[in-house]
Amino acid sequence: MNEQNILIVRVGEAALKGMNKPYFEKTLADRIKRHLKGFRGVEVRRHEGMIFIRSPKELDQQDIIRHVSKVFGVSSVSPAVEAPSDLDAIGEEAVKFMLRQIEERGIRTFKVEAKRADKQFPVKSPDIARIIGAKVLIGCKVLKVDVHDPDCKLFINLRKDRTYIYDEKIAGFGGLPLGTNGRGLVLLSGGIDSPVAAWMMAKRGMLIEAVHFHSYPYTSKRAQQKVEELAGIVASYSGRMKMHVINLLPIQEQIVQHCPEEETTILVRRFMMRIAEKIAEKYGCMMLITGENLGQVASQTAEALVVTDACVTMPVMRPLIAMDKVDIMDKAQEIGTYEKSIEPYEDCCTVFLPKHPTTKPHLKRIEHSEAALDVDALVNKAVASEEIIPIMPGGEDF
Ligand code: ATP
Ligand code: MG
Repeated sequence: MNEQNILIVRVGEAALKGMNKPYFEKTLADRIKRHLKGFRGVEVRRHEGMIFIRSPKELDQQDIIRHVSKVFGVSSVSPAVEAPSDLDAIGEEAVKFMLRQIEERGIRTFKVEAKRADKQFPVKSPDIARIIGAKVLIGCKVLKVDVHDPDCKLFINLRKDRTYIYDEKIAGFGGLPLGTNGRGLVLLSGGIDSPVAAWMMAKRGMLIEAVHFHSYPYTSKRAQQKVEELAGIVASYSGRMKMHVINLLPIQEQIVQHCPEEETTILVRRFMMRIAEKIAEKYGCMMLITGENLGQVASQTAEALVVTDACVTMPVMRPLIAMDKVDIMDKAQEIGTYEKSIEPYEDCCTVFLPKHPTTKPHLKRIEHSEAALDVDALVNKAVASEEIIPIMPGGEDF
Protein backbone atom coordinates (compact mmCIF):
# COMPACT_ATOMS: atom_id res chain seq x y z
CA MET A 1 0.00 0.00 0.00
CA ASN A 2 0.92 3.63 -0.48
CA GLU A 3 3.48 3.06 -3.19
CA GLN A 4 1.65 5.87 -5.00
CA ASN A 5 0.91 9.41 -3.84
CA ILE A 6 -2.79 9.96 -3.22
CA LEU A 7 -4.69 13.19 -3.39
CA ILE A 8 -8.28 13.49 -2.22
CA VAL A 9 -10.26 16.12 -4.11
CA ARG A 10 -13.43 17.48 -2.59
CA VAL A 11 -16.10 18.53 -5.00
CA GLY A 12 -17.56 21.98 -4.32
CA GLU A 13 -21.02 23.07 -5.36
CA ALA A 14 -21.26 20.33 -7.98
CA ALA A 15 -22.09 18.06 -5.05
CA LEU A 16 -25.35 19.98 -4.52
CA LYS A 17 -26.69 19.36 -7.99
CA GLY A 18 -29.16 16.58 -7.18
CA MET A 19 -29.99 14.60 -10.29
CA ASN A 20 -27.25 16.33 -12.27
CA LYS A 21 -24.56 15.51 -9.74
CA PRO A 22 -22.96 12.68 -11.78
CA TYR A 23 -22.71 14.98 -14.80
CA PHE A 24 -21.01 17.74 -12.79
CA GLU A 25 -18.65 15.30 -11.10
CA LYS A 26 -17.72 13.63 -14.35
CA THR A 27 -17.08 17.02 -15.99
CA LEU A 28 -14.91 17.99 -13.04
CA ALA A 29 -12.91 14.75 -13.21
CA ASP A 30 -12.41 15.30 -16.95
CA ARG A 31 -11.22 18.85 -16.32
CA ILE A 32 -8.76 17.63 -13.69
CA LYS A 33 -7.42 15.08 -16.19
CA ARG A 34 -6.89 17.86 -18.72
CA HIS A 35 -5.05 20.03 -16.20
CA LEU A 36 -2.80 17.07 -15.37
CA LYS A 37 -2.14 16.09 -18.98
CA GLY A 38 1.54 16.88 -18.56
CA PHE A 39 2.02 14.37 -15.71
CA ARG A 40 2.64 10.78 -16.81
CA GLY A 41 1.04 7.88 -15.00
CA VAL A 42 -1.55 9.91 -13.08
CA GLU A 43 -4.94 8.27 -12.44
CA VAL A 44 -8.07 10.31 -11.75
CA ARG A 45 -11.08 8.37 -10.42
CA ARG A 46 -14.45 9.30 -9.00
CA HIS A 47 -15.58 7.40 -5.96
CA GLU A 48 -18.43 7.99 -3.53
CA GLY A 49 -18.76 11.70 -4.24
CA MET A 50 -15.04 12.49 -4.13
CA ILE A 51 -12.28 12.40 -6.71
CA PHE A 52 -9.06 10.49 -6.05
CA ILE A 53 -5.82 11.20 -7.84
CA ARG A 54 -3.07 8.61 -7.69
CA SER A 55 0.36 9.48 -9.01
CA PRO A 56 3.72 7.72 -9.14
CA LYS A 57 5.90 8.59 -6.14
CA GLU A 58 8.60 10.13 -8.34
CA LEU A 59 6.26 12.91 -9.54
CA ASP A 60 6.24 16.20 -7.64
CA GLN A 61 3.07 16.06 -5.52
CA GLN A 62 3.25 19.81 -4.77
CA ASP A 63 3.20 20.57 -8.48
CA ILE A 64 0.17 18.33 -8.95
CA ILE A 65 -1.59 20.08 -6.06
CA ARG A 66 -0.81 23.46 -7.60
CA HIS A 67 -2.48 22.37 -10.85
CA VAL A 68 -5.49 20.71 -9.23
CA SER A 69 -6.29 23.60 -6.92
CA LYS A 70 -6.66 25.83 -10.01
CA VAL A 71 -9.45 23.68 -11.41
CA PHE A 72 -12.84 25.34 -10.96
CA GLY A 73 -15.24 23.12 -9.02
CA VAL A 74 -12.57 21.89 -6.60
CA SER A 75 -13.34 23.02 -3.07
CA SER A 76 -10.24 21.54 -1.42
CA VAL A 77 -7.54 18.91 -1.75
CA SER A 78 -5.69 16.77 0.77
CA PRO A 79 -2.56 14.71 0.26
CA ALA A 80 -3.43 11.43 1.97
CA VAL A 81 -2.26 7.93 2.73
CA GLU A 82 -4.61 4.98 2.74
CA ALA A 83 -5.14 1.83 4.74
CA PRO A 84 -7.64 -1.01 4.65
CA SER A 85 -10.69 -0.14 6.80
CA ASP A 86 -9.43 -2.10 9.79
CA LEU A 87 -8.42 -0.39 13.04
CA ASP A 88 -5.04 -2.13 13.37
CA ALA A 89 -4.09 -1.34 9.80
CA ILE A 90 -5.29 2.28 10.16
CA GLY A 91 -3.30 2.60 13.40
CA GLU A 92 -0.15 1.34 11.71
CA GLU A 93 -0.44 3.81 8.82
CA ALA A 94 -1.39 6.63 11.20
CA VAL A 95 1.78 6.04 13.23
CA LYS A 96 3.95 6.08 10.10
CA PHE A 97 2.18 9.22 8.93
CA MET A 98 2.73 10.98 12.24
CA LEU A 99 6.39 9.92 12.48
CA ARG A 100 6.87 11.71 9.15
CA GLN A 101 5.12 14.83 10.49
CA ILE A 102 7.40 14.80 13.54
CA GLU A 103 10.48 14.55 11.34
CA GLU A 104 9.42 17.03 8.65
CA ARG A 105 7.47 19.61 10.66
CA GLY A 106 8.65 19.03 14.21
CA ILE A 107 5.10 18.62 15.53
CA ARG A 108 4.69 17.75 19.21
CA THR A 109 0.93 17.80 19.80
CA PHE A 110 -1.98 16.32 17.88
CA LYS A 111 -5.67 15.58 17.87
CA VAL A 112 -7.55 12.91 15.92
CA GLU A 113 -10.76 13.70 14.06
CA ALA A 114 -12.46 10.62 12.70
CA LYS A 115 -15.36 10.35 10.30
CA ARG A 116 -17.10 7.09 9.63
CA ALA A 117 -18.60 7.41 6.14
CA ASP A 118 -19.35 3.67 6.18
CA LYS A 119 -22.16 3.42 8.72
CA GLN A 120 -21.92 -0.39 8.66
CA PHE A 121 -18.54 -0.21 10.35
CA PRO A 122 -19.11 -1.42 13.94
CA VAL A 123 -17.09 1.31 15.74
CA LYS A 124 -18.48 4.86 15.96
CA SER A 125 -16.48 7.95 14.96
CA PRO A 126 -15.54 9.21 18.47
CA ASP A 127 -14.37 5.70 19.40
CA ILE A 128 -12.33 5.39 16.21
CA ALA A 129 -10.65 8.71 17.13
CA ARG A 130 -9.88 7.46 20.64
CA ILE A 131 -8.51 4.10 19.52
CA ILE A 132 -6.29 5.58 16.79
CA GLY A 133 -5.17 8.37 19.15
CA ALA A 134 -4.02 5.74 21.67
CA LYS A 135 -2.11 3.83 18.96
CA VAL A 136 -0.37 7.04 17.84
CA LEU A 137 0.63 7.86 21.42
CA ILE A 138 2.24 4.42 21.75
CA GLY A 139 3.94 4.59 18.36
CA CYS A 140 5.16 8.20 18.60
CA LYS A 141 6.62 8.72 22.04
CA VAL A 142 7.28 12.47 21.65
CA LEU A 143 3.65 13.31 20.88
CA LYS A 144 0.99 14.54 23.31
CA VAL A 145 -2.70 15.07 22.73
CA ASP A 146 -3.95 18.67 22.65
CA VAL A 147 -7.61 18.95 21.70
CA HIS A 148 -7.68 22.77 21.76
CA ASP A 149 -4.66 23.92 19.76
CA PRO A 150 -2.82 20.93 18.28
CA ASP A 151 0.23 21.28 15.98
CA CYS A 152 -1.41 18.66 13.76
CA LYS A 153 -4.99 17.54 13.24
CA LEU A 154 -5.01 13.93 12.09
CA PHE A 155 -8.08 13.23 9.99
CA ILE A 156 -9.30 9.67 9.61
CA ASN A 157 -11.88 9.25 6.89
CA LEU A 158 -13.18 5.71 7.14
CA ARG A 159 -14.96 4.43 4.04
CA LYS A 160 -16.24 1.06 2.97
CA ASP A 161 -13.04 -0.63 1.81
CA ARG A 162 -10.40 1.96 2.45
CA THR A 163 -9.60 4.58 4.98
CA TYR A 164 -7.84 7.82 4.17
CA ILE A 165 -5.48 9.55 6.57
CA TYR A 166 -4.43 13.18 6.13
CA ASP A 167 -3.68 16.33 8.05
CA GLU A 168 -4.31 19.26 5.75
CA LYS A 169 -7.00 20.67 3.50
CA ILE A 170 -5.70 22.99 0.81
CA ALA A 171 -8.43 25.29 -0.42
CA GLY A 172 -9.35 25.42 -4.09
CA PHE A 173 -11.38 28.23 -5.67
CA GLY A 174 -14.72 26.41 -5.63
CA GLY A 175 -17.12 27.35 -8.40
CA LEU A 176 -18.37 24.97 -11.09
CA PRO A 177 -16.49 22.87 -13.62
CA LEU A 178 -15.68 24.58 -16.89
CA GLY A 179 -18.03 23.71 -19.67
CA THR A 180 -21.12 23.40 -17.51
CA ASN A 181 -22.36 26.94 -18.26
CA GLY A 182 -22.07 27.87 -21.90
CA ARG A 183 -19.54 30.11 -23.60
CA GLY A 184 -18.99 33.84 -23.16
CA LEU A 185 -16.94 36.47 -24.98
CA VAL A 186 -14.94 38.78 -22.75
CA LEU A 187 -13.95 42.25 -23.93
CA LEU A 188 -10.36 42.05 -22.79
CA SER A 189 -8.31 45.21 -22.37
CA GLY A 190 -4.86 45.30 -20.84
CA GLY A 191 -6.26 46.70 -17.60
CA ILE A 192 -6.84 45.24 -14.16
CA ASP A 193 -10.56 44.67 -14.39
CA SER A 194 -11.44 42.66 -17.47
CA PRO A 195 -9.14 39.65 -16.74
CA VAL A 196 -10.74 39.40 -13.29
CA ALA A 197 -14.22 39.57 -14.86
CA ALA A 198 -13.32 36.76 -17.27
CA TRP A 199 -11.91 34.66 -14.43
CA MET A 200 -15.05 35.14 -12.35
CA MET A 201 -17.34 33.95 -15.14
CA ALA A 202 -15.05 31.00 -15.92
CA LYS A 203 -15.24 30.10 -12.24
CA ARG A 204 -18.99 29.64 -12.66
CA GLY A 205 -18.34 27.09 -15.40
CA MET A 206 -18.38 29.35 -18.46
CA LEU A 207 -15.96 28.71 -21.31
CA ILE A 208 -14.24 31.90 -22.38
CA GLU A 209 -13.18 33.56 -25.61
CA ALA A 210 -11.75 37.06 -25.81
CA VAL A 211 -11.95 40.07 -28.09
CA HIS A 212 -9.35 42.79 -27.92
CA PHE A 213 -9.44 46.18 -29.65
CA HIS A 214 -6.34 48.14 -30.53
CA SER A 215 -5.60 51.32 -32.46
CA TYR A 216 -2.43 50.34 -34.30
CA PRO A 217 -0.19 52.25 -35.07
CA TYR A 218 -1.27 54.55 -32.23
CA THR A 219 -1.05 51.55 -29.94
CA SER A 220 2.00 49.31 -30.28
CA LYS A 221 2.46 45.62 -31.08
CA ARG A 222 4.06 45.29 -27.65
CA ALA A 223 0.83 46.54 -26.03
CA GLN A 224 -1.06 43.75 -27.79
CA GLN A 225 1.60 41.25 -26.73
CA LYS A 226 0.90 42.23 -23.13
CA VAL A 227 -2.82 41.50 -23.58
CA GLU A 228 -1.96 38.09 -25.08
CA GLU A 229 0.17 37.33 -22.02
CA LEU A 230 -2.65 38.46 -19.75
CA ALA A 231 -5.06 36.20 -21.64
CA GLY A 232 -2.53 33.38 -21.13
CA ILE A 233 -2.76 33.83 -17.36
CA VAL A 234 -6.58 33.71 -17.50
CA ALA A 235 -6.27 30.64 -19.75
CA SER A 236 -4.17 28.86 -17.12
CA TYR A 237 -7.51 28.53 -15.31
CA SER A 238 -10.01 28.58 -18.15
CA GLY A 239 -8.15 26.52 -20.76
CA ARG A 240 -6.80 27.46 -24.15
CA MET A 241 -8.87 30.10 -25.93
CA LYS A 242 -9.14 32.21 -29.04
CA MET A 243 -8.49 35.93 -28.90
CA HIS A 244 -10.17 37.95 -31.64
CA VAL A 245 -8.20 41.08 -32.37
CA ILE A 246 -9.74 44.10 -34.06
CA ASN A 247 -8.24 47.41 -35.17
CA LEU A 248 -10.64 50.08 -33.99
CA LEU A 249 -8.70 52.99 -35.48
CA PRO A 250 -10.81 53.45 -38.65
CA ILE A 251 -13.94 53.76 -36.48
CA GLN A 252 -12.28 56.06 -33.97
CA GLU A 253 -11.20 58.35 -36.80
CA GLN A 254 -14.75 58.53 -38.15
CA ILE A 255 -16.10 59.36 -34.70
CA VAL A 256 -13.52 62.08 -34.13
CA GLN A 257 -14.29 63.62 -37.52
CA HIS A 258 -18.07 63.51 -37.40
CA CYS A 259 -19.27 63.46 -33.79
CA PRO A 260 -19.10 65.78 -30.72
CA GLU A 261 -15.77 65.48 -28.94
CA GLU A 262 -17.20 64.89 -25.44
CA GLU A 263 -19.13 61.87 -26.72
CA THR A 264 -16.08 60.11 -28.19
CA THR A 265 -15.62 57.61 -25.36
CA ILE A 266 -19.23 56.48 -25.13
CA LEU A 267 -19.50 56.23 -28.92
CA VAL A 268 -16.36 54.12 -29.10
CA ARG A 269 -17.72 51.88 -26.37
CA ARG A 270 -20.95 51.33 -28.27
CA PHE A 271 -18.98 50.26 -31.32
CA MET A 272 -16.94 47.86 -29.20
CA MET A 273 -20.14 46.29 -27.92
CA ARG A 274 -21.68 45.96 -31.38
CA ILE A 275 -18.55 44.37 -32.82
CA ALA A 276 -18.23 42.05 -29.83
CA GLU A 277 -21.85 40.95 -30.21
CA LYS A 278 -21.29 40.04 -33.88
CA ILE A 279 -18.16 38.08 -33.02
CA ALA A 280 -19.95 36.33 -30.18
CA GLU A 281 -22.76 35.28 -32.51
CA LYS A 282 -20.28 34.09 -35.10
CA TYR A 283 -18.45 31.83 -32.65
CA GLY A 284 -21.27 30.50 -30.50
CA CYS A 285 -20.81 32.73 -27.45
CA MET A 286 -24.09 33.50 -25.71
CA MET A 287 -23.06 36.41 -23.53
CA LEU A 288 -20.67 39.35 -23.48
CA ILE A 289 -18.48 39.93 -20.43
CA THR A 290 -16.89 43.23 -19.45
CA GLY A 291 -14.86 44.49 -16.52
CA GLU A 292 -17.13 47.50 -16.03
CA ASN A 293 -17.67 48.71 -12.52
CA LEU A 294 -20.35 51.19 -11.46
CA GLY A 295 -19.01 54.71 -11.25
CA GLN A 296 -15.35 53.82 -11.79
CA VAL A 297 -14.82 56.16 -14.78
CA ALA A 298 -16.92 58.50 -16.94
CA SER A 299 -17.98 55.67 -19.24
CA GLN A 300 -19.22 53.57 -16.32
CA THR A 301 -21.76 55.88 -14.69
CA ALA A 302 -25.24 54.40 -14.46
CA GLU A 303 -26.35 56.61 -17.39
CA ALA A 304 -23.36 55.60 -19.51
CA LEU A 305 -23.93 51.91 -18.83
CA VAL A 306 -27.57 52.23 -19.91
CA VAL A 307 -26.50 53.89 -23.16
CA THR A 308 -23.76 51.30 -23.71
CA ASP A 309 -26.18 48.44 -23.15
CA ALA A 310 -28.84 49.82 -25.48
CA CYS A 311 -26.95 49.02 -28.69
CA VAL A 312 -26.83 45.25 -28.19
CA THR A 313 -29.46 42.62 -27.46
CA MET A 314 -27.12 39.94 -26.14
CA PRO A 315 -26.92 39.83 -22.31
CA VAL A 316 -23.88 41.69 -20.97
CA MET A 317 -22.35 40.21 -17.83
CA ARG A 318 -20.53 42.65 -15.57
CA PRO A 319 -19.39 40.51 -12.66
CA LEU A 320 -17.41 43.38 -11.08
CA ILE A 321 -20.24 45.87 -11.21
CA ALA A 322 -20.64 46.36 -7.45
CA MET A 323 -17.13 45.59 -6.24
CA ASP A 324 -14.74 48.15 -4.79
CA LYS A 325 -11.54 48.79 -6.72
CA VAL A 326 -9.37 47.55 -3.83
CA ASP A 327 -11.22 44.25 -3.82
CA ILE A 328 -10.83 43.88 -7.58
CA MET A 329 -7.10 44.58 -7.17
CA ASP A 330 -6.84 41.96 -4.41
CA LYS A 331 -8.56 39.43 -6.64
CA ALA A 332 -6.19 40.28 -9.50
CA GLN A 333 -3.25 39.68 -7.11
CA GLU A 334 -4.72 36.38 -5.96
CA ILE A 335 -5.23 35.00 -9.46
CA GLY A 336 -1.90 36.32 -10.72
CA THR A 337 -2.97 38.89 -13.33
CA TYR A 338 -2.19 42.07 -11.37
CA GLU A 339 1.53 42.44 -12.13
CA LYS A 340 0.94 41.97 -15.85
CA SER A 341 -2.04 44.37 -15.86
CA ILE A 342 -0.08 47.24 -14.36
CA GLU A 343 2.71 47.08 -16.95
CA PRO A 344 2.45 50.49 -18.57
CA TYR A 345 1.37 50.17 -22.18
CA GLU A 346 -0.98 52.34 -24.18
CA ASP A 347 -4.63 51.30 -24.66
CA CYS A 348 -6.97 52.15 -27.52
CA CYS A 349 -9.34 53.89 -25.11
CA THR A 350 -6.69 56.48 -24.31
CA VAL A 351 -6.25 57.37 -27.98
CA PHE A 352 -8.47 60.38 -28.81
CA LEU A 353 -9.50 60.74 -25.17
CA PRO A 354 -11.86 63.74 -24.88
CA LYS A 355 -10.89 66.51 -22.42
CA HIS A 356 -14.33 66.50 -20.78
CA PRO A 357 -16.12 63.23 -21.48
CA THR A 358 -19.85 63.32 -20.96
CA THR A 359 -20.78 61.44 -17.79
CA LYS A 360 -24.55 61.54 -18.25
CA PRO A 361 -25.15 60.69 -21.89
CA HIS A 362 -28.71 60.61 -23.29
CA LEU A 363 -29.53 57.77 -25.59
CA LYS A 364 -31.46 59.98 -28.05
CA ARG A 365 -28.60 62.44 -28.35
CA ILE A 366 -26.02 59.66 -28.79
CA GLU A 367 -28.17 58.02 -31.47
CA HIS A 368 -28.45 61.39 -33.19
CA SER A 369 -24.65 61.72 -33.23
CA GLU A 370 -24.31 58.19 -34.61
CA ALA A 371 -26.66 59.09 -37.49
CA ALA A 372 -23.67 60.89 -39.02
CA LEU A 373 -21.94 57.51 -39.38
CA ASP A 374 -22.66 54.40 -41.42
CA VAL A 375 -22.74 52.25 -38.29
CA ASP A 376 -23.55 48.89 -39.89
CA ALA A 377 -20.90 49.20 -42.57
CA LEU A 378 -18.24 50.21 -40.03
CA VAL A 379 -19.14 47.33 -37.73
CA ASN A 380 -19.21 44.75 -40.53
CA LYS A 381 -15.88 45.94 -41.88
CA ALA A 382 -14.30 45.72 -38.45
CA VAL A 383 -15.66 42.20 -37.88
CA ALA A 384 -14.42 41.10 -41.31
CA SER A 385 -10.92 42.33 -40.50
CA GLU A 386 -10.54 40.31 -37.29
CA GLU A 387 -7.34 38.48 -36.63
CA ILE A 388 -7.54 35.35 -34.47
CA ILE A 389 -4.76 34.57 -32.02
CA PRO A 390 -4.68 31.21 -30.25
CA ILE A 391 -3.95 31.66 -26.56
CA MET A 392 -2.21 28.86 -24.71
CA PRO A 393 -2.50 28.65 -20.94
CA GLY A 394 0.59 30.34 -19.49
CA GLY A 395 3.26 27.66 -19.29
CA GLU A 396 0.84 24.76 -19.67
CA ASP A 397 -1.48 23.26 -22.24
CA PHE A 398 -4.92 21.91 -21.59
P1 ATP B 1 -9.95 47.43 -17.49
O1 ATP B 1 -9.14 47.54 -16.26
O2 ATP B 1 -10.54 46.07 -17.67
O3 ATP B 1 -9.20 47.93 -18.69
P2 ATP B 1 -11.15 49.99 -17.14
O4 ATP B 1 -11.49 50.31 -15.76
O5 ATP B 1 -9.89 50.52 -17.69
O6 ATP B 1 -11.20 48.40 -17.29
P3 ATP B 1 -12.59 50.96 -19.45
O7 ATP B 1 -11.34 51.26 -20.15
O8 ATP B 1 -13.67 51.97 -19.40
O9 ATP B 1 -12.39 50.49 -17.96
O10 ATP B 1 -13.20 49.67 -20.07
C1 ATP B 1 -14.33 49.06 -19.53
C2 ATP B 1 -14.42 47.66 -20.10
O11 ATP B 1 -14.48 47.69 -21.53
C3 ATP B 1 -13.19 46.83 -19.79
O12 ATP B 1 -13.26 46.21 -18.55
C4 ATP B 1 -13.21 45.83 -20.93
O13 ATP B 1 -14.15 44.80 -20.68
C5 ATP B 1 -13.71 46.67 -22.09
N1 ATP B 1 -12.56 47.26 -22.84
C6 ATP B 1 -11.96 48.45 -22.67
N2 ATP B 1 -10.93 48.61 -23.51
C7 ATP B 1 -10.89 47.49 -24.27
C8 ATP B 1 -10.06 47.02 -25.34
N3 ATP B 1 -9.05 47.76 -25.79
N4 ATP B 1 -10.31 45.82 -25.89
C9 ATP B 1 -11.33 45.05 -25.41
N5 ATP B 1 -12.13 45.43 -24.41
C10 ATP B 1 -11.92 46.63 -23.85
MG1 MG C 1 -9.10 49.85 -19.64
